[in-house]
Amino acid sequence: MTIKHIFVVGAGTMGNGIAQVAATSGYQVTCMDVQPAALEKAKAAIGQSTAKLFEKGMITAKQKSAADSIQFVSNMDTMKDADLVIEAATENPEVKLRIFKDMNANAREGVILASNTSSISITKIAANTKCPDRVIGMHFMNPVPLMKLVEVIRGLGTSDETTQTIVELCRAMGKEPVEANDSPGFISNRILCPMINEAVFALQEGVGTPEAIDQVMKLGMNHPMGPLALADLIGLDVVLFIMEVLQKELGEDKYRPAYLLRKMVDAGRLGRKSGRGFYQY
Ligand code: NAD
Repeated sequence: MTIKHIFVVGAGTMGNGIAQVAATSGYQVTCMDVQPAALEKAKAAIGQSTAKLFEKGMITAKQKSAADSIQFVSNMDTMKDADLVIEAATENPEVKLRIFKDMNANAREGVILASNTSSISITKIAANTKCPDRVIGMHFMNPVPLMKLVEVIRGLGTSDETTQTIVELCRAMGKEPVEANDSPGFISNRILCPMINEAVFALQEGVGTPEAIDQVMKLGMNHPMGPLALADLIGLDVVLFIMEVLQKELGEDKYRPAYLLRKMVDAGRLGRKSGRGFYQY
């Protein structure tokens, strides 16, 4: 199927990034959210991001104006005009399963339904639709306009044709697709979140200060940022949620969240978004 028009569900951090990159890659884009404030915020974020990228010579004036023509809507009425739907709404299984049911009812027959979920089973999401062969994970990284990777996740029923179409689309969006099978945390969070969790254990046990732990990983392992600073960027609540999914779904004690991680989330110290995490912002 030729993809010309992409409909993005959810206009938050990831949804607006995906909408922006799709638009600057030449696709017609509609971006939907149930919160009017999120749509306003997305419009402003895309405007700021494309202005900066244009200033730096990373996108052309034509690409910038393509991003200005993204349609922002508050319902799925025009989803029938789209050739692909990418869901990037709140990471909550109930919310996603409901949205996929609605996407299945509103999108045209034959359209691929993709999810940007970080941790929810693509197979489970697909089972909630009448077209599991056309459901797939497109796990973009944050910030979407700058990060190259898209993890492409095949559910148990995802067809080869769907996978091939999405792999080609990722490349057309200037991204590097890497295929993974549906498993808790996929490849990225299966490895990243336990590493962050281990850094929190090290802090909890007094092995080092936050600065020392992050410096060791930056200077010694060549990581661009330390695990605790990265946790603050991702959101401590998100890291905790993913560790809980890994522990529950894989059933192994090695995925047990560090007590300090839970305590910080309970205290509302969620990282950058709340102004305080392992560091003060
Ligand atoms: P966010 O909270 O910034 O945005 C989520 C948006 O979804 C909100 O604007 C909310 O109003 C909207 N929404 C909720 N219910 C909806 C509905 N029924 N219909 C339409 N919109 C609805 O969250 P985010 O960080 O952008 O994450 C979105 C998805 O991307 C999640 O599945 C998350 O796991 C995944 N993800 C996030 C990151 C990250 O670093 N933030 C990275 C990779 C993947």
